[in-house]
Amino acid sequence: MSEQYLKDRDIEFLLYEFLDTEALLQRPRYAEHSREVFNATLDTARTIAEKYFADHYTKGDACEPTFDGETVTLIEETHKAWHAFAEAGFLAAHYDFDEGGMQLPEVILRSAMAYINAANVGTAAYPFLTLGAANLVRSFASEDLKNTYLPPMMDGRYAGTMALTEPDQGSALADIRTTATPAEDGSYRLRGQKMFISGGDQSITENIVHMVLARIKDAPPGVKGISLFLVPKFIPATDGAAPIRNDVQLAGLLHKMGYRNTTSTVLSFGESSGAVGYLVGEPHKGLSYMFQLMNEARIGVGTGAAVLGYRGYQHALQYAKERPQGRLPSNRDPQSKQVPIIQHADVRRMLLMQKSYVEGGLALCLYASSLFEDAHSAETENERQQAAELLDLLTPIVKSWPSKYCLKANDLAIQVLGGSGYIREYPLEQLYRDNRLNPIHEGTEGIQAMDLLGRKVPAKGLAGYQLLAGEIGKTLAACGDSDELNALAQRLGDGLARLSGTTESLLGQMAADADLGLANAALYLDAFGRVVVSWIWLRQALIASRRLNTDLSEDEENFYRGKLQAARFYIEWELPEIEPQLTLLEAGNRVPFEMQRDWF
Ligand SMILES: Cc1cc2nc3c(=O)[nH]c(=O)nc-3n(C[C@H](O)[C@H](O)[C@H](O)COP(=O)(O)OP(=O)(O)OC[C@H]3O[C@@H](n4cnc5c(N)ncnc54)[C@H](O)[C@@H]3O)c2cc1C
Repeated sequence: MSEQYLKDRDIEFLLYEFLDTEALLQRPRYAEHSREVFNATLDTARTIAEKYFADHYTKGDACEPTFDGETVTLIEETHKAWHAFAEAGFLAAHYDFDEGGMQLPEVILRSAMAYINAANVGTAAYPFLTLGAANLVRSFASEDLKNTYLPPMMDGRYAGTMALTEPDQGSALADIRTTATPAEDGSYRLRGQKMFISGGDQSITENIVHMVLARIKDAPPGVKGISLFLVPKFIPATDGAAPIRNDVQLAGLLHKMGYRNTTSTVLSFGESSGAVGYLVGEPHKGLSYMFQLMNEARIGVGTGAAVLGYRGYQHALQYAKERPQGRLPSNRDPQSKQVPIIQHADVRRMLLMQKSYVEGGLALCLYASSLFEDAHSAETENERQQAAELLDLLTPIVKSWPSKYCLKANDLAIQVLGGSGYIREYPLEQLYRDNRLNPIHEGTEGIQAMDLLGRKVPAKGLAGYQLLAGEIGKTLAACGDSDELNALAQRLGDGLARLSGTTESLLGQMAADADLGLANAALYLDAFGRVVVSWIWLRQALIASRRLNTDLSEDEENFYRGKLQAARFYIEWELPEIEPQLTLLEAGNRVPFEMQRDWF
C-alpha cells in the first residue's frame, strides 16, 4: 500500500492503551500467547491486506463479477486474496488449538480484519461471511455436519453465506416463506427464493455452504416457526465419488452501487427436486441461532464502516497538506504564496470532524469486540454476564453509529478534495459508495433504532442501561482534578442525565402507545450514540492527558494532542446536538407520526 490505510499507531493505541489487551494473557485460553504473537498476527494481516487485497480495490469495482448462465467469473486477484487469507490461517484463527485453530482473541482478530477491510471491503466480504457461517455450524450443527463441513470451511476449500432475505421480505424476518419439507433420510427439501445473498455464487471455492432460514411445514407462525438449515451448493459424496450438484440455482446477479467485487445474488432453492438441506440445531430455533451470526456481523459492519471512513480521512488529510489554494483572510497580498488548504480553518474543521468520527467509531467497535471477548473468556460468571449484557445493549449503536457517521466522514473527505473528491481518479467516491451499504444491511438504521428502544434498553428492567451508566460514571470519576477533562466530563455527565430522563419518559410513552412511543426511535438511536461516543472519546482523552504529562517525542506528543483535540471537538460540538433531539422525544413529538400518506 503506498499510503497506510489504517495506521498501526492507532491500532496499537486502541489495543494496548485504550483497551488492556495484554491482560488477556492472564486468562488460561491465552496463556501460551504473548504480545509478540498478537503483533505478529496483525503484521501478517497487514501484509496480506497490502499485497493481496489492496492491489485490486479499484479493479474489482470497475470489473464486477459476471455470470454467463453457468459460471460466475471474478477477477483473478480475488482468488489470490482468498487463498492468501486462508493459507495464513485466518479462517480458523479464533478456534481452539485442539480444533486446528490459533486460539487468538476476538479483539486481535477484529483488528486484523480491520486491515483487510480497509484495503478492500468488496473482496473481504467472502472471508467475512465464511467466518460467520462456520461459527454457526460450529456452535449449533450436529457432529456429522461439523465433521463434513467445518474443516473445509476452516482451510478455505468451502466458503459460507447467510441466506435470510427474500424478494418479499427483508427487515421482517418473521414473514419468510422459504419452506423445508422433511425427507425420508432425515434431511429436508428446501423450496423458495433468497435475494441479496452476498457471495451466493462465485468461482473461488470448490463448494459454498449456505446457512438458510426456512419454515418447516406446519411450523408456528412468526419468528418461533423459523428453522436454520445448512444447504451446500455441492453435496459431498462419502464414497470418493464426485460431489452431487444440489438444487440451488443462481437466478441472477444484482448490480450494486458499491461492494462490487462481492457477488450479490438471487438464489432459487428447489426449482426441481428440492434443495437438500440439513437442519441445524433444533427445529423452530433458527432465528435465535442466526442472531449469533448477525450480532457478530453487526460488530463487523460497524468496524468495516469505521475503516472505510478512516481510509477516506487519511486520504483527505494527505491531500489537504499538499494542495495549495488561496490565502488566509488576513492576508491581502495577491502575490504571496498560496497556502495548503489545511491552513484554512474550515478544512481543519472538516478533517477534525472526520477524525472524531472514524477514530471514535473504530474505538467503539474494538471496545465492543473486547466485550465479546469478556463475555466468553472473562474469569468469573458475573463478569461474563455483565459483558454480554452491555454488548447486547450496545450492539445497535456499534452497528449503526459508524455506519452513519463514518459514511458522513467519507462525504466530508470528498468535500475536502473539492472537485477532485467527486471524480473516479481519486478513491473517495468509491469509498463513499462502498460505505453506503452499511446503514442498510445487517438490519437497517430504522431497525436498529427499534431494537435499541423497543428491546435492548427495557430488557431485564434496564439492566444493560444501568451497567452502561455505571461504566460512564467510572470514567467521569477518573477525570480527577484536570480542568480540561472535568469540563468535558461535566458535559458528558449532563448529557447522560438528560438521556436517562428521556429514556424514562419514552418507556412511559411506549407503555401507553407502542406505535407512538417508538415513532421517533431513530432520533433516540442518534442521541444515544452521541452519548456513548462522547464517553468513548472521554476515555481516550483521559489516556492522552496522562501521557502528555510524561516525556514524549514530538511525534508522540502530536499523537496525544490530536486525541485530546478530537475528544474536545466531539464533546463540545457533537454532544450538544442531543439537546433538541431529547426535547422532541420527551415531548412525544407527533409530526412525522401524524403525517398522512395522502399529504405527501
Ligand atoms: C449489498 C447487499 C448485501 C446484502 N447481503 C445479504 C446477505 O448476505 N444475506 C441476506 O440474507 N441479506 C443480505 N442483504 C439484505 C439486507 O439485509 C436487506 O436489504 C435489509 O435487511 C433491508 O431489507 P429490505 O431491503 O427488504 O428493505 P425493507 O425491509 O423493505 O426496508 C425498507 C425501509 O423500510 C424501513 N422499515 C422496514 N420495516 C420497518 C419497521 N418495522 N419499522 C421501521 N422501519 C422499517 C427500513 O428501515 C428501510 O428504510 C444484503 C443487502 C444488500 C443491499
